[in-house]
Amino acid sequence: MAGGSHGSFVLDLDRCTGCAACVVACNNENPVAAESNWRGVYTFNHQRLATQPVFHLSLACNHCFDPACQANCPADAYVIEPESGAVLIHRERCMGCRYCSWVCPYDAPRFDPVSGLMEKCTFCHERLQQGRRPACVSACPTDALDFERINTPVANHQPGFPDTGLRPAVRFEGSRHETAPAQTAAPVAFNFPARPSSIDWSGLRNEWSLLFFSWVAAMLVAWFTASAADFTRVSLPVFSVAGLLAMGISTLHLGRISRAWRAPLNLRRSWVSREVVLFSSFFAAACVSLMGARTVFWPQQAIACIGFASMFAMDMVYRAPDQPVHTVPHSAMATLTAALYVGILAGNPAILWPVVVLKLVLYLARNKRPRPGGNALAPIRIGVGLFPAIALAATGLIPAPVAMLGAAIGEFIDRAEFYANLRFLTPAHQIDRDLARSAD
Ligand code: SF4
Repeated sequence: MAGGSHGSFVLDLDRCTGCAACVVACNNENPVAAESNWRGVYTFNHQRLATQPVFHLSLACNHCFDPACQANCPADAYVIEPESGAVLIHRERCMGCRYCSWVCPYDAPRFDPVSGLMEKCTFCHERLQQGRRPACVSACPTDALDFERINTPVANHQPGFPDTGLRPAVRFEGSRHETAPAQTAAPVAFNFPARPSSIDWSGLRNEWSLLFFSWVAAMLVAWFTASAADFTRVSLPVFSVAGLLAMGISTLHLGRISRAWRAPLNLRRSWVSREVVLFSSFFAAACVSLMGARTVFWPQQAIACIGFASMFAMDMVYRAPDQPVHTVPHSAMATLTAALYVGILAGNPAILWPVVVLKLVLYLARNKRPRPGGNALAPIRIGVGLFPAIALAATGLIPAPVAMLGAAIGEFIDRAEFYANLRFLTPAHQIDRDLARSAD
């Protein structure tokens, strides 16, 4: 066993039989929520393809040296325990935004819908303090799972294991080269957890409040920006009510709404915190400006720039490492949407042409994944959403309100598809990816 200050799991692939005793031991030892598992056993090639090896990856949180969960948590809820390097969730600080599950490629943070909080493997750090090994390690009947102390993590290049530069504290031994036995019966999927992953909490059904917020926020930023150049007038009552409503509704996706105030606490590293601070600042300054104090405080152009900065931060929120479906660039990016609206309100072809063409190309060229409602919505997204803007840019004869209404409908459809298609990297995705690659 190597000496060092940071704990690390060791998994011998030649010994792991995929029995899931580690999962059971973890659930017995810890207050794991009923619909969750902190540890999972993922089988590489559960389809038993005859040309590929079959082996099992028993994975939990890897207590990374550069943990993405901690860096990206807007509520600053993650702490690193100095004795073992355990990456722990401070439950009193968690607001249940689930963002850590998006950025962790190991599907380690789990959402408990009962408490509304995230939870995950603790390295059994209390057992470690008593000189004992983690429960999963102690329970492994084949000695496949072990624990050691290290100073630096080894580079892990293991098929099925996402390698995204977070320096996970896990080391693999052995390698299964035997290919699968000839198939005599239908293959059985053998993956623990069979229960929903936290990633399954993303998607349109669970993020509808963010869809509404992002849709309205882009309109408000564009409306104010256009007014800064005197293209249009902004109604303060409509602007302020729409902004407050959108921000209020956006909190509904939190597991603990009462802790929404924690969202700006990781401004230094989290794009969620930056988005919250930038949009709130934009909205407050815009309202003050619209009350007539524009010349006293901020130039309107500066407020508009903050608004666009909030749109950029919003787009960056969805940019997780190595995700299977790209969100940046994407035709529904909030920055592009706000620019489209500004181009329409300004009736400015120099803004409209590049934005519309870019949106169209991105929409047509992006993933082939199923869209909500199938492709039936694609003609509406393009015909209603972009065609009036194209006609406005080309002829100037389409009234701006008509083009705006069409664009708002089109952007709503595109944004809804964006949320419906959200996919984040997990070991299960990585296995599919590596299996497909090696089977080619
Ligand atoms: Fe954070 Fe995921 Fe690394 Fe665990 S495995 S420390 S949850 S990034």
